Amino acid sequence: MAAIKDKSHDGVPIEGMDDELNPLRSTQMVIQEALDRLGYPESFHELLKEPLRTLTVRIPVRMDNGSVEVFTGYRSQHNDSVGPTKGGVRFHPDVTEDEVKALSIWMSIKSGIANLPYGGGKGGIICDPRTMSLNELERLSRGYVRAISQIVGPAKDIPAPDVFTNSQIMSWMMDEYSEIREFESPGFITGKPLVLGGSHGRETATAKGVGICIQEAARQKGLSMSNARVIIQGFGNAGSCLAKLMYDGGAKVVGISDAYGALYDPDGLDIHDLLDRRDSFGTVTQRFEDTITNAELLEQPCDILVPAAIENQITASNARNIRAPIVVEAANGPTTLEGTRILTDRGILLVPDVLASAGGVTVSYFEWVQNNQGYYWSKEDVDRKLREVLVDAFERVHHMHVLRKMDMRLAAYVVGIQKMAEAVRFRGWL
Ligand code: GLU
Repeated sequence: MAAIKDKSHDGVPIEGMDDELNPLRSTQMVIQEALDRLGYPESFHELLKEPLRTLTVRIPVRMDNGSVEVFTGYRSQHNDSVGPTKGGVRFHPDVTEDEVKALSIWMSIKSGIANLPYGGGKGGIICDPRTMSLNELERLSRGYVRAISQIVGPAKDIPAPDVFTNSQIMSWMMDEYSEIREFESPGFITGKPLVLGGSHGRETATAKGVGICIQEAARQKGLSMSNARVIIQGFGNAGSCLAKLMYDGGAKVVGISDAYGALYDPDGLDIHDLLDRRDSFGTVTQRFEDTITNAELLEQPCDILVPAAIENQITASNARNIRAPIVVEAANGPTTLEGTRILTDRGILLVPDVLASAGGVTVSYFEWVQNNQGYYWSKEDVDRKLREVLVDAFERVHHMHVLRKMDMRLAAYVVGIQKMAEAVRFRGWL
């Protein structure tokens, strides 16, 4: 994240910053190309390259020691031509305005690919939840909702969990919003616990979505999943849940990593043992002596490589060393545009983040639909519908990739932006 700490003026990345590593700038480049390929005039890029609205808020929070700390937060709404905006809220010390804006644009693309009736939104608060008590986190979550309450709502903009936020934080936020509006508003936020109107399968949805994309990519490459060698970089929520899914499904997970290092064993790792040995922050590699670095892990031989950690991991400097025929991005932005070009030229099938990680927002959509109907679905219903949505999304993106000879990222953007551009036109905005 260090590469994106520099601030921008009015959302325009400052000169001299490496465009390749700035997520907002690199997303804008792909959007431009996708709109060009679809034949839209420059005015569409002008509108879609930035969110329609980004609100910055300052949230005073009484800390447990009696002092008051003021936190900075953001809520960005990219485009609401298709429907209300939708996307998570992250709590992280490295959150920046540019990052939140880029993430809101990614959410528009994800929703478009999964054909959901949403535009993209995203929120973030600069804070380190690992150093805060539950009471402090509750006051921060409630303060954030009070600060953004004018621009969010079940038919306006619907938040959800993201990095370092969970169902407890969603519950406090939902409760605060319901207090402000003076009626129960479960559809204001998704990722809630089941007792407050959450959906079956929401917590595992992102990993399941990645798993479905892995199966579809393997099918395209004629690779059998039984005993397929999988490397997963990152053992957070998505990474660890995916490792378990892959292991239980008969694949051989040969590598995993956390922020401190990586484990690699060509004979396969015992994932259940590793899950049991994680500490409360989800890290496990410090317990082993024989570790390699995260960078080394990416270059080990395997059939499927899943970067599920942070951005800018596969770049111009290491993309030639990747030894996997399939790369599936479970993290946001793990491969740079140059990295994408090199992998594609080498015949590696890359499933981009905006497609591979769309499972979370898809089940969030199911949760919102259930809240609006007041009628709740079984776990089997959710799993079946998630598979339908993602298999269809994968097919449309892959078809575009083959038919129009675009790399998979550009193909995903073309598929993801098409409906939004059409909706903008029908509404008469451009
Ligand atoms: N934060 C997740 C994402 O980036 C989920 C968003 C949602 O459920 O609305 O896709």
